[in-house]
Amino acid sequence: MNFESIIEYQKRDMLLRKIQKEENNDKNHLKMMELAKSINDEKALLGKGSVETNQYLEEISRLNEEVAKISVRIEEIKGIFSSAGSGEDEEAAKNEKIKLFAELNSLKTKLINADRKLSDRMNKLSSLANSGINSINTINRKGKEYEATKAEYEKVLSQNNPRKLTIKEEMEKLKVEPELLALYEKNKKIVKLPVFVTPTGNKEGYSCICGMKLSPADLTELKEKRMCQCKNEACNRLIVLPKAND
Ligand SMILES: [Zn+2]
Repeated sequence: MNFESIIEYQKRDMLLRKIQKEENNDKNHLKMMELAKSINDEKALLGKGSVETNQYLEEISRLNEEVAKISVRIEEIKGIFSSAGSGEDEEAAKNEKIKLFAELNSLKTKLINADRKLSDRMNKLSSLANSGINSINTINRKGKEYEATKAEYEKVLSQNNPRKLTIKEEMEKLKVEPELLALYEKNKKIVKLPVFVTPTGNKEGYSCICGMKLSPADLTELKEKRMCQCKNEACNRLIVLPKAND
């Protein structure tokens, strides 16, 4: 296997990663993420406000129905009241009037309470509407700011693109064996870059770049296959001898 090519490939891949990292940390990119988050938060707030608005609207319609029912009953009582007492039994008529009075009083209290609740819910609705308008304004303003920041960030990206393209072309030209490339991609996910390293020291005392000394078994493997894996569990890098005469 051509380890030299994968090491060259890896160098360029790491360079691409570095550029990618710089792009991610670009002040415009960071600002974009911040704006996107705060736009989402504002949208969530707006959604919550709309749920609350619906709840208040339902409550208001229920309260209105209650008020209407109470008003009807009050009118009924007034009717009964004027006709009460025309019967022969004066005592019964008096009692009936007392009962009607009591009901009327209780209905009046209910009406006052319902009215109070109604005006409270109306106030809440109006303040929700105001904060809804504020949220929409904030979303629009931050949306514009996001677009402007994105345009700035895209300038950075287009400045980097030729360089990235050149690196990618170089990587292609290296024509790394698919087997080796697969090994690299697989290990890249579990091993800290660089995945492929050349040993430090000499044949008598090879070490991995992490400092772990190679065991005699590792050395034999390295000699035969020109590749072995570092046994340091925190490292696990692939140690290779790029040239046969190493
Ligand atoms: Zn190691």
